[in-house]
Amino acid sequence: MNNIDKPGENCAVFGIYGHKEASKLTYLGLYSLQHRGQEGCGIVSSDGSEVFVHKGRGLVSDVFSSPGIFRHLKGYIAIGHNRYSTTGSNLPSNVQPFVVECRDGPLAISHNGNFVNTNFLRKLLVKEGSIFQTSTDSELLVHIIARSKEENLVLKLKECLAKIKGAYSIVMLVKDKLIAVRDPNGFRPLCIGKKRNCYIITSESCALDLLGAEYQRDVKPGELIVIDKNGLSSHQIFQPEKLTFCIFEFIYFSRPDSKIFGEYVDKTRRKLGKNLALEKPANADIVISVPDSSNTAALGYSHKSGIKFELGLIRNHYIGRTFIQPSQPLRDFNVKVKFNAVGGVIKNRRIVVVEDSIVRGTTLKMLARLIKNAGAKEIHIRVSSPPIRYPCYYGMDFPTEEELIASSLSVEEIRKFLNVDSLGYLSIQGLLDSVPKNDAGFCNACFSGDYPVPIEERLLKNQYEIFNHIHLSDKVR
Ligand code: SF4
Repeated sequence: MNNIDKPGENCAVFGIYGHKEASKLTYLGLYSLQHRGQEGCGIVSSDGSEVFVHKGRGLVSDVFSSPGIFRHLKGYIAIGHNRYSTTGSNLPSNVQPFVVECRDGPLAISHNGNFVNTNFLRKLLVKEGSIFQTSTDSELLVHIIARSKEENLVLKLKECLAKIKGAYSIVMLVKDKLIAVRDPNGFRPLCIGKKRNCYIITSESCALDLLGAEYQRDVKPGELIVIDKNGLSSHQIFQPEKLTFCIFEFIYFSRPDSKIFGEYVDKTRRKLGKNLALEKPANADIVISVPDSSNTAALGYSHKSGIKFELGLIRNHYIGRTFIQPSQPLRDFNVKVKFNAVGGVIKNRRIVVVEDSIVRGTTLKMLARLIKNAGAKEIHIRVSSPPIRYPCYYGMDFPTEEELIASSLSVEEIRKFLNVDSLGYLSIQGLLDSVPKNDAGFCNACFSGDYPVPIEERLLKNQYEIFNHIHLSDKVR
């Protein structure tokens, strides 16, 4: 219910080194990253010799509900995680960070992203005697690291990550070190901040703002960062491949006040709205947004089109994850409990409704009916992304291809399904024109079907080769 008919967010990672209240700051960091995952969360801290863990299912405020928890989470290093289950089910055992005891001591991991060769690796490791405690792909990392015979941690991680294909932004804690690493394509964001002598690693920069820390730079694709008593050291363990930052982070996932991939989300989201207005104009009296994720794009549309922006829909922010459904089914209850139309704004007006994306279309259909019932004269839906036709394999929770409305229906058929006067999507070119023009390349596979890292079935043929080529005793330097 939290995000009805939207792609699922894709987890948040956070890490801090060098603060006497590391776990409390991690809690605040996770709080600001709550939008990336609401199913579970956890913090692991270390005083340099011992590690301490607290995690559970639910929101950050539910899991860390008493000050006593932080007395237990001692130390000057901590990592945290907010979970959205893109792989593995919503089981308590799947809540991160994972903590294991390895040859070299305790190791804790928080992971954002999805590996695309999970099934293959899992089967292989099980065959070779590994016992898995969870059903997530992130646990694979721990098993592969634990088997490595390399002499130092950087080489161990390099060996392990060379076997893994897909998307990962990871923070790790090993007794007296904080580690961060990002896949060579750079799918998911990950940045470094500093607050006096203390280092912070976070999925999005909004966590730095909350903590009064300064944004330093992004962790580079293929880069591994080690932070310890000697400061920060950088290891480019893989040469960056064709960069394919997730373009959906700009459309919907990241917070508008965050800086990701070197650019503010707000700025890019406004451009999406502006380009949408240029490509898909409408004769209308007002522009409204589907709050909150479409607000910025709607402002951009309004600015470019000259059509006044109004608050036509009010969102109820206080719905818990579970709520009591009335026993007598009420029409459109699920959407009504979350949104209400402002009759005084909508009545007798021709309305542009800006939405950031359409997945199944079921919620938008109910919303359109809500707006119609509030007296709208005409409804023109404008979408600040292209039609989503393909699933994501790199860490976003999308429904199956069959459930994606644009995979089987044309734009005109979707318009009829939504029962609105017109429907217009931003083109792929319009999307690409809106994102920053630096050296970055972007993944847009959910719109184009052009997957930058082949997914498992296509990888299988050369998997044994990849795994054996870099098998445990081999060097991957
Ligand atoms: S397929 Fe879509 S959601 Fe997934 S990484 Fe690519 S752009 Fe992002």
